[in-house]
Amino acid sequence: MVKEKELSKVIFFDKEEKLHESFRYFNFLDFKNKKIPIKLHMGEIKNKYHVSPAFVKHVVDELKNLGAKPFLFDTTVLYLSIRRFKIGYKFIAAINGYLKIGCNVVIGDKGKNVYANNRFFDVAEELCESTHIIAISHVTGHNLTGFAGAIKNFGMGGVTKKEKKRIHSGGQLIHFDEKCSYCGLCVKTCSFKAITIEKDNWSLNEYKCIGCGSCVKTCPEGALLIKYLDFQKGLCQSIKAVVNGKIVIYINVLKNITSQCDCGPSIRPPLCEDIGYLISNDPVAIDKASIDMVNKKTKGNIFQINNKVDPLDQIKYGEEIKLGSSSYKLIEL
Ligand code: SF4
Ligand code: SF4
Repeated sequence: MVKEKELSKVIFFDKEEKLHESFRYFNFLDFKNKKIPIKLHMGEIKNKYHVSPAFVKHVVDELKNLGAKPFLFDTTVLYLSIRRFKIGYKFIAAINGYLKIGCNVVIGDKGKNVYANNRFFDVAEELCESTHIIAISHVTGHNLTGFAGAIKNFGMGGVTKKEKKRIHSGGQLIHFDEKCSYCGLCVKTCSFKAITIEKDNWSLNEYKCIGCGSCVKTCPEGALLIKYLDFQKGLCQSIKAVVNGKIVIYINVLKNITSQCDCGPSIRPPLCEDIGYLISNDPVAIDKASIDMVNKKTKGNIFQINNKVDPLDQIKYGEEIKLGSSSYKLIEL
């Protein structure tokens, strides 16, 4: 049995008025005088279920009262949307009501090289430059991860388009030196200039490689292989790179819980009645608590049933790589 002192703390509150009280469970004194990115998905055109700007304003006001300097933050996206570009994302932030809550909206498009889990991740510059972050996630289902909460939203939303592409493809290039004839075909094929050959020495710049696999198809000797990493595992590794020693407080919003994420228009009604809010400093614990609460509410594993993907894979792997703990203590306000 897990001892109580090992459990991660997850605070639940049903009304946003209790946000102030929930902050008392974490050390926010350190946030004073610091620029604090509030990382969140600001919705899409015709998506009406994104996190309410009124709630986000509440978070902004609490942080300002603590002497912090918050700003809303997200990164440009990979898929075909005007959110692919900073100006387009700002337009959506405006129509969804995020430009009127008393702080700047910053959209990131450039990354910095962060090494984690044996490879480099292209983490958003603005997050790299911050020491303290708030990550607000709208809890929804997702067709690739079953469930999307803190791990999905911060792991994917905290990196650049290039890294998003790499996580989606999941490809990691492996080179077998003993099979290689150093013909150089892979060098010519790679449009990212990730491979170099000098005096029979083949090398890969992992930061440049996006794992597309084009060079594997070209290689006449079978000396290259792409190892595909599961998408949920890729997200867990990515969020580890984004966090990278920073203080991050996660807020999961369990309202308007839809079967799909906020990257498209709202088509179907929510899966269940609204539940409330969770706050924690552990992304694995808060996501596990979110899944448990939705399962309890819907009397079944609704995310797995809807998306045919086991959402617990990200929880198990997150725990395995020490991203956080699936054992939590729920404190209800
Ligand atoms: S194409 Fe294959 S054999 Fe040729 S250099 Fe690249 S890895 Fe080696
Ligand atoms: S997998 Fe793609 S990006 Fe990586 S080295 Fe091969 S061709 Fe270049």
